[in-house]
Amino acid sequence: MVVVNMSGEVEQGKWKPSSELPLHLAVYQARKDIKAIIHTHSVLATAFAVCRQEIPVVAEDLAQVVGGPVRVADYAHPGSVELALNAVKALGQEDNAVLLANHGLVVLGNDFPTALQRCRVIERNAQIIIWSKVLGSPYILTPEKIAELRKNYLCDYGQK
Ligand SMILES: [Zn+2]
Repeated sequence: MVVVNMSGEVEQGKWKPSSELPLHLAVYQARKDIKAIIHTHSVLATAFAVCRQEIPVVAEDLAQVVGGPVRVADYAHPGSVELALNAVKALGQEDNAVLLANHGLVVLGNDFPTALQRCRVIERNAQIIIWSKVLGSPYILTPEKIAELRKNYLCDYGQK
């Protein structure tokens, strides 16, 4: 584990930070609401990233846990400041995840368990969509239905 400050200077640890340090710093700067970022090259989400196709909402958990479709940021070289800026632009102030074109996935959360849960849900949904396209044409949920699922999940879902 390497601990860096918001200027990217190493404060703890003997290792070099990730080559995607500019990405992590830019997202933390842009999104004061989040406290955890996971960047992964998970295979099925990356399949969408290389096709530069967003992961649409076809199952309830993507709406509930992630809050909407996972959009694709414009392509940039891995580790570059341009990649970081493209990711920040595509995320905006609302999205909790973004695909990096021809690269992988970036997922945000208030904490690491939430970000990891979102990674798992996104990978599951990527798999569902790929299989559903083998069977036919998946129905994509409307923005209204997505908002309703998200609201119910945040307010009423599960044990209190
Ligand atoms: Zn990467």
